[in-house]
Amino acid sequence: MTQATVTKARTFTHLVSKEGGVKYPLEALNVCEETFSPLEVAYDYDAIRAQVSRETIEAGPNSIWRYKAFLPVESENPIDVGTGMTPLVKSNRLARRLGLKNLYIKNDAVNMPTLSFKDRVVSVALTRAKELGFSTVSCASTGNLANSTAAIAARAGLDCCVFIPSDLEAGKVLGTLIYNPTLMAVKGNYDQVNRLCSEVANTYGWGFVNINLRAYYSEGSKTLGYEVAEQLGWKLPDHVVAPLASGSLFTKIYKGFREFAKVGLVDDKNVRFSGAQAEGCSPISQAFKEGRDFISPVKPNTIAKSIAIGNPADGVYALDVARKTQGNIEDVTDAEIIEGMKLLAETEGIFTETAGGTTIAVLKKLVEAGKINPDETTVVYITGNGLKTQEAVQGYVGEPLLIDPKLDSFERALERSRTLERLEWQQTIV
Ligand SMILES: *Cc1c(COP(=O)(O)O)cnc(C)c1O
Repeated sequence: MTQATVTKARTFTHLVSKEGGVKYPLEALNVCEETFSPLEVAYDYDAIRAQVSRETIEAGPNSIWRYKAFLPVESENPIDVGTGMTPLVKSNRLARRLGLKNLYIKNDAVNMPTLSFKDRVVSVALTRAKELGFSTVSCASTGNLANSTAAIAARAGLDCCVFIPSDLEAGKVLGTLIYNPTLMAVKGNYDQVNRLCSEVANTYGWGFVNINLRAYYSEGSKTLGYEVAEQLGWKLPDHVVAPLASGSLFTKIYKGFREFAKVGLVDDKNVRFSGAQAEGCSPISQAFKEGRDFISPVKPNTIAKSIAIGNPADGVYALDVARKTQGNIEDVTDAEIIEGMKLLAETEGIFTETAGGTTIAVLKKLVEAGKINPDETTVVYITGNGLKTQEAVQGYVGEPLLIDPKLDSFERALERSRTLERLEWQQTIV
């Protein structure tokens, strides 16, 4: 087929309620008026199949937009700030430490432009916001979403007003302010911020990426599935481990794998989905362990603030994905989260934030409980960067050795540190 005969028809057709299948037009709507269930974007998969192949994707941009046919935007020029195509790293030292043979790390700690997976969802949401005619964009955020919305709105020339809980880490606050949005720090937790934003969205006619644009926004997370499949040589993994906040990311990686199989880009198979939460905010994990199919909201209390959502919008759908794929959902303590951050850094050279520490700690816990087979091709999703949550590990990472600019001062310090290391090592073997 020549370039000229490829008709790039719109591949997304309507919005549809997750329960009951009620259809809606492609506008800024987020919940079904009849069933009260969330709305999702529906596609014409025959049209997608006709437009894409492994070769056309490989020849596409080095960003999430190589998968544009699977995303709900029409523009020929979507907002492309280099988001996506982050490294999929084969793990050697962490894998050996855990006793796994085929472990891969999907490293969104280096996603562009703001170093978390949220740049994927925001690139899609703001492209769609422009198409729908919004001039002011907004969000309710646990931190990373505020960074990403402010940065990409700046790039796109959109007005931006974002809402966060007032107790976030300094790096998340500064990492938003630098882009000069209006930043509202709300005296309350994320669930209270979110409720306030729903009221503002109804009154102000702004495009809230994770409220009235949520159907479009959430589709951006599918690219975390597509990229892993492509980077594994057009194959699906056996098992994935990913963090859960609202549960959206988790369900969309699943949707991404299903779609790739549906249009014939990969062979179909059951991929097991395991989810990670912090014990101090684990409503989905609790429901999983108690065999419930509903979520009981909790009040968050954990250092893993970026995933601290006590009343998760997609919690029941995440539960369903974990159960029907024979996966698991686990939670870990704040102390284990810190250990998880250190473990990933010391074995693989990746500094992740508390959400990544949670995911690594849950991976370890699942392996130790025999819930991940050492031979399975397992992908662990690292979704954010440790430089943004430095408070979490302050005091747990040792101190620099302060010396005079003299050789003998250096040598004394080196001797002292080697002796200390030996003592510590002896303590660990007795
Ligand atoms: C937002 C966030 C998540 C989880 O996202 P959901 O789609 O709400 O489950 C995971 N990791 C990090 C670093 C985040 O910022």
